Amino acid sequence: MSASGPPWALALHGGAGVEQDRNYDRAEAKLAELVLDGEARLRRGDAALDVTVDLVAEMETSGLFVAGRGSARNALGHVEFDASLMDGGQGRCGAVAAIQGVCSGIRAARAVMEASDHVLLVGDGASRFALSQGLAPITDLDRWLTEPDGYDPADIDRSHGTVGAVALDLSGRLAAATSTGGVYNALPGRVGDSAVIGAGTWADPAVAISCTGQGEAFIRVCAAHAVASRVAGGEAPDTAAAAILASVAQASGDGGLIVVTSDGDVAMAFNTPGMKRASVSWRREAQTGVIGGALRPARRSERKGDCDDDQ
Ligand code: ASP
Repeated sequence: MSASGPPWALALHGGAGVEQDRNYDRAEAKLAELVLDGEARLRRGDAALDVTVDLVAEMETSGLFVAGRGSARNALGHVEFDASLMDGGQGRCGAVAAIQGVCSGIRAARAVMEASDHVLLVGDGASRFALSQGLAPITDLDRWLTEPDGYDPADIDRSHGTVGAVALDLSGRLAAATSTGGVYNALPGRVGDSAVIGAGTWADPAVAISCTGQGEAFIRVCAAHAVASRVAGGEAPDTAAAAILASVAQASGDGGLIVVTSDGDVAMAFNTPGMKRASVSWRREAQTGVIGGALRPARRSERKGDCDDDQ
C-alpha cells in the first residue's frame, strides 16, 4: 500500500477470550467488514471519534461479541453495560457503568461526553440520562439478547468479548472507544475497566488505546494510560503494549489491547491464546486475526454476520 499523504490508522478488537477449538468465522467476517468500512470512512476524511463510536456500535448490534446484544447476564440475570470513549485531540471523555435498558452503551457514553458536564454516569442515572437524550431503549430484553433467539451460544465466548476501536484520522486526531456486556455471572453492580478512563480506554494527541480482558487487573495497573505513558517516553507501541500486559499478568489478569499512534503505527497485543482483531493503516492493507499471531487479508464475505434486528 502506498504511504503518501498524512498518516491514518484503525484497529478493532472483539475480545481476547478466544479458545483454540471454537469457530469464530462469523465474528472475524464482521471485523473484516467493519475494518473495510472504517478504512473507507477514514480515507474520505471522517473524524476518528465518529468512526470509532460507529464501529463499536455496530459490534454491539451484531450480537457476535460480549457487548450490546451479545452481552452476558450477571448473577441476577440482568444485563449491564460499561462503555467509555475518549477524544484524544480535545482531551474530552465520557463513560457509563452498569447501565441497563439502553441499546448502545457506547452511544450513551458519547452522550455523557457531549451533552452533560460529567465524565461518568452509572446505573439508573446513566439509563435515565441516555434515554432523555433520545437513545434507543431495550424494549424486550429476552428478544433483544441473541442467546435466547436461537443464536448458537458456542459462537460467543463469554469470558472476554468486549469490543473496542482506536483510530487516527487524516486531520491527526486520535480517538478510542470501548464497550462491554461485562463478564459472565458477575456480581450485580460490578464495574470493569471498560468504563474506566485510563484503565480500559485512553486517547491523547499521541496515542489511543482500548483494552479487553479481566477488568480488575487492567484497573489495578491503569493499563491504557500506562501504555500511553510509555509511548510518550519514546517506546514503540508494541513494546509498550507487551510491557503493560506483563504488568496485567502480574496483577493476575489476562487479556489484550489495541494501540494506534499519531504516526499511524498500530499494535495489537494479547497474553491469551488469541484476540478477535482487525487493523488497517496508511502503510498496511486491512487484516484480521483471531487465534495466535496469524493475520490474514480482510475480505468482505457474502455471509451475513449480524443477528436479525427484530426486537
Ligand atoms: N474488560 C471487560 C471487563 O472486565 C471484559 C472483557 O474485556 O471481556 O468488564
